Amino acid sequence: MNDFITPFQKAHLKEYKAVLNAIREYKKIAIFRHIHPDFDALGSAYGLKEWIHANFMDKDIKVLGDNHDDLTPRLYPKTNTVPNSWFMEPFLAIILDTPNKRRIADPRYVHAEFTIKIDHHPFIEGIGDIELINHQVTSTAELLVDMLLSYKMKLSQKAARYFYTGIVGDSGRFEYTPTNSHTFEIADHLVSTGFDLNEVYRAMYLREQNDLTVISYILSHYQLSKHGVAYFVLTKKELAKFHITTNQGKDHVNLFHYVNGIHIWCAITEDLKEKCFRVSLRSETIDISKVASKWRGGGHKNASGAKLTSLSELDDFINDLDQLIR
Ligand code: AMP
Repeated sequence: MNDFITPFQKAHLKEYKAVLNAIREYKKIAIFRHIHPDFDALGSAYGLKEWIHANFMDKDIKVLGDNHDDLTPRLYPKTNTVPNSWFMEPFLAIILDTPNKRRIADPRYVHAEFTIKIDHHPFIEGIGDIELINHQVTSTAELLVDMLLSYKMKLSQKAARYFYTGIVGDSGRFEYTPTNSHTFEIADHLVSTGFDLNEVYRAMYLREQNDLTVISYILSHYQLSKHGVAYFVLTKKELAKFHITTNQGKDHVNLFHYVNGIHIWCAITEDLKEKCFRVSLRSETIDISKVASKWRGGGHKNASGAKLTSLSELDDFINDLDQLIR
C-alpha cells in the first residue's frame, strides 16, 4: 500500500505539503468544524486530532465547538471547555467541513496566527491562509485521509474509525454521489487498520423503538406537493410528544429517498433554541442548493439545509422547490 497515489494527491500536492509544514511548525493546534455537527464534522475533527497526536506527541490539540445532543458522547468525545487564555499564544487553526465563517462552531478561530480550511462544500468565502477544497469527494473525512495517507505516517485504528464514520455518514453508507472507487480505496485503508465494522455501524445507526413511533407518525402525516416535493413538519408539540430533539426529528428525512414520483424531500423541524424551523433538504438529481441559500441556508447540490422563521413561510418555500421540478 506504500505506493498508493491518488489523482487528488497529485492535484493538491502543494496544499498537502503546506498543511504538513504548518502542523509541524505549531505546538498549539485548534480544530474547528461547523455548528450542528454531523458524522463528518465530528469524525473528521476527532480523526485528525488522533492522527496528529499519534505522529507528533508533543502537540497541544483542542477540538472546539458545540456538542451534539446524541452523537456525543455516544460516538465521539464531548468537547471540553477551552479558556480564552489558551488562545493568547500563537496557534494553528484547522477549520474542517465548513465553507463560511458564519457556521464555524467557535468564533475564536479569528485569533489564530495561521489558518487552514479543509472542506468538501462548494466554495463560499476565503477563511484560511491555506484553502484545501475539493467537491469531488463524499466527505471532508475522505479528503483528509487522502491527504494524510500521502504523508506515509502512522494511521492508528482509533483515528481510522473516526474517519470511517465521517465517510459513511456523508456518503449515506457509500450510496450518494460522488461515491466512487476513490471513496472505496480510502475506506479500504481505514478498514485495514482492523476496527470492528459491526460495532461502528451499530454505534452510528442503532435506533430506539420510539423511533418507529415517530416514523409511523411521519408516514401518516407527510405532504406531497403538486410536482413531487415530499415534506413533513415536526413542531415543538410533536417533538415533546415523542421526546425527541430537533436533530433526531430531522434525521428521518431520508424515509422518502427512492420513492417513485418524489424528486425532492425535506424534514421541517422546530428549533426552540434558534427560534426557527430547521429544514433538511435532499434530492436525487435536482440542484437544491440555490433554493437552500435563498432560505437562509446552503449546502450541496443534493443535500442542503435551510431555515424558516415560521410556518407562514412554508408554502412559498415548497413552491420554490416545486418550481425546480417543473
Ligand atoms: P443537514 O440537512 O443538516 O444534514 O445538512 C445537509 C448539508 O447542508 C450539510 O452539508 C450542511 O453542512 C449543510 N447545511 C445545513 N444547514 C445549513 C445552513 N443553515 N447553512 C448552510 N449550510 C447548511
